[in-house]
Amino acid sequence: MAILGYNDYFPYSIYRPFQEKVIQEISEATALGKNSILIATNGTGKTIMALSATLPIVMSHPKRKILFCSRTFTQNARVIEESKEIVNKKFGKENVPPFGALSLRGRNEMCIHKTIARLKLPPRESMNVCASLRKNKRCKFFINLFKKKKSKEFEEYLEILAESPLESQELMSFAEKDDLCPYFLTKILLAHEKIVVCNYQWIFEPNIRKNFMEALGISLSDCIIIMDECHNLPEIATGINSFRLTPYTLKQGLKDLEIFRATHQLIRFLENLSEILKKIKKYQNFDEVKLRKHQFLQEILNKNKFGSLNDLKQVLSDLKEYGEAIQSEKIETNMLLRDHIFPIVEFFQQFIDHIDDEAYFPCITMKNTDRGKSIALEVKCFAPRLITDPIFKESLATLSLSGTLHPFTYTQLLGLNETGKKLKIIKMKPPFPKKNAKVLLTRELNTRGDNRTAEMYRDILIALKPIFMNTPRNIGVFCASYEVVRGLLENGFKRLAEMCNKKVYNEESGLSAKDNDIMIENYKFQSTLESGNGAVLLGVCGGRNSEGEDFPGDNMNAVVIVGIPFQRPTPSGNAKNDYYEKLFPGKGRLFGYTIPALQRANQACGRPIRKMDDKGLIVLMDNRFSQHRIYLSDWIQQSIKKIPNSTAIIKREVQSFFLTDRIN
Ligand code: SF4
Repeated sequence: MAILGYNDYFPYSIYRPFQEKVIQEISEATALGKNSILIATNGTGKTIMALSATLPIVMSHPKRKILFCSRTFTQNARVIEESKEIVNKKFGKENVPPFGALSLRGRNEMCIHKTIARLKLPPRESMNVCASLRKNKRCKFFINLFKKKKSKEFEEYLEILAESPLESQELMSFAEKDDLCPYFLTKILLAHEKIVVCNYQWIFEPNIRKNFMEALGISLSDCIIIMDECHNLPEIATGINSFRLTPYTLKQGLKDLEIFRATHQLIRFLENLSEILKKIKKYQNFDEVKLRKHQFLQEILNKNKFGSLNDLKQVLSDLKEYGEAIQSEKIETNMLLRDHIFPIVEFFQQFIDHIDDEAYFPCITMKNTDRGKSIALEVKCFAPRLITDPIFKESLATLSLSGTLHPFTYTQLLGLNETGKKLKIIKMKPPFPKKNAKVLLTRELNTRGDNRTAEMYRDILIALKPIFMNTPRNIGVFCASYEVVRGLLENGFKRLAEMCNKKVYNEESGLSAKDNDIMIENYKFQSTLESGNGAVLLGVCGGRNSEGEDFPGDNMNAVVIVGIPFQRPTPSGNAKNDYYEKLFPGKGRLFGYTIPALQRANQACGRPIRKMDDKGLIVLMDNRFSQHRIYLSDWIQQSIKKIPNSTAIIKREVQSFFLTDRIN
């Protein structure tokens, strides 16, 4: 059989500007087992470039697979859509064999048993409930699947399903039609698929990866790992290695120990911990404080009358054993309760194991909620490599995709020059014409903490007025923080927008995903109304709308970034900068503080331009952007025009940009 290349898998009749060259570069680097990074703006077709470049490599070997990590269901669906496009256009015509692609969701989203749907438990607890239902033969969907698996035609059934790409929803419909469990059917199907689309946890969380690889029937060395929106990876990786313990977990764990008659020593241990936290919460007030770890450990030893650390380790081991016994008993007796013991044991094991490790920062955090003050013990990890090293070192090849990545920071933080593999960085030129983006930077405005007065907010509103008045439809205003959002609202933001005949949609802190979806739908709808003048979406950089949502066409003609979204200094933030400083002398604050803030701003700036023919006005309202200009995306840097904070000049700039649009 002829050896196929990227051309055989590219389903469209023509390549967009620069696409073929980039595909060729990815293809060569991947074939040589390199770790590659592709930096390309939206609208360049990153997904299809990644798939057509890597498919020939996995299709040439029966065991190989592409594992595509993404953060949103929308992106998962996109990968499946492009895979379908390849199969539909190419299969049969150019010797391209059919192949399967499947997007995954967690058990909670795939389960069709009404008990799990009703309980809405966290993933670990759903796993326990599912185990209980299966063990007691109370899940007909699992029983049906088990029977079908034994039938002669099952292999054929799997082959048919694995012959074409399927979105998780589609597989669920198939399974539901036959009364089969979609979650376990997916697990069985995994070994038959060539492309598996999943979230980052499936691949980067070590325990989940172990089970996942077993289900796939391969090892990392058989996999090309593609990571979409990879600029999030350092944060995802440190999040996986960070742990949290709350009084609620302790209270529930205590309840379990009492119900199942645990020893007095175990019960006392949890009671003492609860008392320590209660005392701190009552007498102290802070957002975050570094834990004096050895002192804290000694207090636990003293309170529990433990003679040494070994006594504590023994109690944790007993607690773990007891927790497992409780879970088994719950399963036996059909008690559908959460496991609160394991998180307690896990937290303390991590705390003890890393007590003198600078990569981990134990702290106590407090925040005010609707139900009063809440407190938590936390161990925050600063070292993403502890999680990412196996992937970059052991997999067949990797491809990191992003539109806004700072490649030097990514390479350094993830140690990509020390993986034993070569590194390839590909920067793709934006395919849209330069005239489609205009970037204005207002010279006088500066939202640094001590400048945040009513006068500053009024100056910002004065600068916003000509933008609101002269932008044809929808606008996004993304601020450095919720404090800045509040400042704008208190100083007349809504009045101004209404005066300009634009409806305001405010992304409030703590808004549920569902309510946010409804709000965004309504906001976008405003841009389609003949009669209206569009709408303004007010939110924050780093929020779900400034990073995870697309606003093509009139959904967002202009975006205004008010302030640089630096994170408020915290003890853990400062400790992270110090940790990076030791690893990368002279770069600690840059890696820990500056780059992440500019990354958030870059993401927000890219919202209006999502397709090749989109036009977007970007206004940077903070003169510090000038000083940090080199960390902005290339296409933004190249288009920046500094202007004074003058209504007349802003008006002229906005009008000329959108007027050209209408003439064209
Ligand atoms: S076996 Fe499947 S359908 Fe049954 S409870 Fe578990 S996940 Fe849900």
